[in-house]
Amino acid sequence: MRAAVVTGPEQVELIEVDDPVALPGSVVVDVSACGLGGSDREAARTGELPAPGWFGHEWSGRIVAVGDGVAERFVGERVLGSVPPPCGRCRRCRAGLGDHCERSLASLVGDATLASPHGAFAPRLRVEADRVVRTPEGLDDVSATFAEPAAVAAHALARAGQVLGECVAVVGGGTIGLLTVELARLAGAARILVVEPDGARRDLACTLGADAAIAPSDAAVEWLEEQSHGLGADVVVDCAGMSGRPRPDTPTLVRHGGLVVVVGRGGATALDPDVLVVREVTVRGSIGYQVGDMRRVLALMDEDRLRPDPLVGPTIGVDEVPVAALAAFGPGRIIVRPTD
Ligand SMILES: [Zn+2]
Repeated sequence: MRAAVVTGPEQVELIEVDDPVALPGSVVVDVSACGLGGSDREAARTGELPAPGWFGHEWSGRIVAVGDGVAERFVGERVLGSVPPPCGRCRRCRAGLGDHCERSLASLVGDATLASPHGAFAPRLRVEADRVVRTPEGLDDVSATFAEPAAVAAHALARAGQVLGECVAVVGGGTIGLLTVELARLAGAARILVVEPDGARRDLACTLGADAAIAPSDAAVEWLEEQSHGLGADVVVDCAGMSGRPRPDTPTLVRHGGLVVVVGRGGATALDPDVLVVREVTVRGSIGYQVGDMRRVLALMDEDRLRPDPLVGPTIGVDEVPVAALAAFGPGRIIVRPTD
């Protein structure tokens, strides 16, 4: 079978790979759908990825084989890719820091011992059995591919804490930013503002529950103050992936005593210590998600409260991934549907 993999900077190739065999403790999944998101594009552009499985990690599918130690009854089950629960054995787990489990974190970026040497831009994939969760019955395979970025957004909001009645500004209107908008609305934010350069994405943000959106510019700071009773946002969630470019100056968007949660990675930081000190801004990082975040977003999707449908972009095959991964962004997220 053929898999689309990153082989260098701006280099994505179709390579012939062996059909995966179920090793002990693993499952083989027939991939139904896989999202091609910002992190995949970033990996394709830079050629840098933590593990081959990172390119194509927002997938859903069906278990077709199980290895020793995994119950046969799981064959046929619809599943999606997640992180495993804390391992209980690594240095941090043994120190009581299960939320920062080394193995969970490695799996998050596709670095797992039994994983296939490619991601889910391929018809089949092998993963550790504890890295799959059952897809809720009411959730179709395409919607299920949004569970992973939604869990990332849910984790960012969990890091923000209480947003009930607050003004939340989301910087970056990619899939994670837009899902953050939806979840902030569900979490009771009073006002949601979006800073995003692409007009179509700003429109989409407003369709999904943002009250207003603006392109990043010097005027954005003033605009944001006007939109938030002259104060600035209570919480800024920075979802911009900015490799090679300066990061947005988020502390200037947040009110005095406010909070910035940084989700997007890469790029030169613009954290001015004077702004942090004078405004007493709190900055928190948010890495990936945990099993609990995944459980919460699946419950919301199953109850039809979190709807990814407006985010669905064009559907393509694996053969089209090398071109699509390096093409310009559209407002919707590309869905790859592999077939043999
Ligand atoms: Zn651990």
